[in-house]
Amino acid sequence: MQNGENWQIGEVEIQRVVEFEAPLLDPFVIYPDADAETLARHKSWLEPRLQDPETGLLILAFHTFVIRTPRHVILVDTCGGNDRQRPQKPRYHMNSWPYLENLAAAGVQRDDVDFVLCTHLHVDHVGWNTRLVDSRWVPTFPNAKYLFARDEWAFWEEEYKTERYTDDPYYEDSILPVIEAGSAVMVDGDHVIDDWVRLSPTPGHTPGHVCVHVECGGAQAVMSGDLMHHALQCAEPDWSSCFCVDPAASAATRREFLATHAETPTLVMPAHFPSPGAGRIIEAGDTWRFKFSDEE
Ligand SMILES: [Zn+2]
Repeated sequence: MQNGENWQIGEVEIQRVVEFEAPLLDPFVIYPDADAETLARHKSWLEPRLQDPETGLLILAFHTFVIRTPRHVILVDTCGGNDRQRPQKPRYHMNSWPYLENLAAAGVQRDDVDFVLCTHLHVDHVGWNTRLVDSRWVPTFPNAKYLFARDEWAFWEEEYKTERYTDDPYYEDSILPVIEAGSAVMVDGDHVIDDWVRLSPTPGHTPGHVCVHVECGGAQAVMSGDLMHHALQCAEPDWSSCFCVDPAASAATRREFLATHAETPTLVMPAHFPSPGAGRIIEAGDTWRFKFSDEE
């Protein structure tokens, strides 16, 4: 059931809280395998919701899903955050989004949150893990346990020690302070949070990427993180993004995910799809399409 950008999965409520949403990425930049002919073929269903007709840029959102089970308040992915030094990534540099105000408007105070879950540890999924207080980065949600998939953490800890690591200090300002505060819990990729919410490993985009499954009373939703960035990848599942650590594994995981959830009632909630941010996978020829929940 959907009410605006709130969904009910049995007894569990899911809300979407947006940091920002805009025409943002050139399809040829984010998808190195993209070609003009294929893009032209998809134009009729991409515009205007998924691709800006003026600029041709793909429209992406950055949002958090708030899950309220009968026992817990859980945040999935924490966007880019405020006050960050990101000289290499201007999109995330020194922002001042009204994100906490948006969370409060959704009825969530910082103290209310029991778990924070990042589908993976990229810069746009960890930002609000912390906030700047008196020149120090501290956990934004003081009562929360932050769940990090063990494989994901191990990968980025290793990256951090190498020259490949970005100059943008997101590991230092968004991940380490959580660990140093004793708020992090390393979990397996198939960790069970409570009777309604569990994880599943979906490696490829990053090695420890996880999906978050909500199940109650026969209804299901799945937060799929960056398993796909844009609905174009339902139609072209072999197009992995330039951000994928292992493009071949990413494509294989995406195909399996799409085939599993196609033509089922499962509500699919990716990390970057524009408003309303959720929908279902439907079959279309040899591949798939995304049907947004307000198109039902
Ligand atoms: Zn992302």
